[in-house]
Amino acid sequence: MADPVDEAREKVALSCRILAMEGLAEGILGHVSARIPDRDEMWIRCRSQQEQGVRYTTVDAIRRVDFNGKGSLMGEQYEVPKELAIHGEIYKKRSEVGCVIHAHPGEALICGITDLELRPIFGAFNIPAMRLALAGVPVFPRSFLVTRPELAAPMIDIMGEKQICLMRGHGITVTGKTVEEATVRALNFNILATTTLQVALTGRKAPDISPEDIAELPNLGSTFNDLWVWRYYARKVDQVDRR
Ligand SMILES: [Zn+2]
Repeated sequence: MADPVDEAREKVALSCRILAMEGLAEGILGHVSARIPDRDEMWIRCRSQQEQGVRYTTVDAIRRVDFNGKGSLMGEQYEVPKELAIHGEIYKKRSEVGCVIHAHPGEALICGITDLELRPIFGAFNIPAMRLALAGVPVFPRSFLVTRPELAAPMIDIMGEKQICLMRGHGITVTGKTVEEATVRALNFNILATTTLQVALTGRKAPDISPEDIAELPNLGSTFNDLWVWRYYARKVDQVDRR
C-alpha cells in the first residue's frame, strides 16, 4: 500500500499539470498545496533554478514545509512560492481545507476586471459549475501579490466559508477537502468563467435558469463529480505527455 502522504505529494504535482494543461496556469505562475494530516505542514509546489513551468511540474518540486514556508527545500535548492501565505494562512484558519489552489486563469481575470456577474446561466450542462454560480463567488477587490500573512487575511475574510475567491486583477484561490475536489472545482469554475465571458462577447444576455429547473438538478455525489472527473484529466494529461 502506498503511503497516503507520498500519494498526496504526487497528486499535488498531477494537479499542477492538469490545471496548466487546461489553461488555468500559463507559464510559470500558479501553485497547488495539500495539507499533511495532523501536522502543521503542507506539500506545496516550489520552484528551482531548473523551473520549466507549471505544465511540467515534477514530484521533486513538491516540497514539505510548515505553514510559514520553513522546511525541506533540499538545501535551499527550492524556493517556496512568493504567495505561500495564501496557502499557509488558509490552513491555519480553516481546518476543513485539505487542498489550496492559486492560479491566474485569463477568463476569470477578464470576468473580474470587467465586473461580469457569474450567474447560473446553464443547468445540466455542468451542474457543479452552476452551483458555484448559485452559491455566489466572493470577489477580493485588491490586485496585489499576496506576499505576507497580513495581505492574505482580508482575502480569507472575504472568502468566508466559501471554496472559491475571485481575486480581481490577479487570479483565483480555490479550496477543497482533497486535491481531487479542489482541482475539479477549479476546472468547473474555469468553465463557468469562460462561458460567462463568451456569452458577454456575443452581446446577448443569458437569463438565469429557472428555480424549477434548478430543483431538477440532482447532486450526483463526489464519486461522479470529483473522482471520475479527476481520473479523466489524470489520464488525459498522462496520454498527452506520452506523445
Ligand atoms: Zn497570484
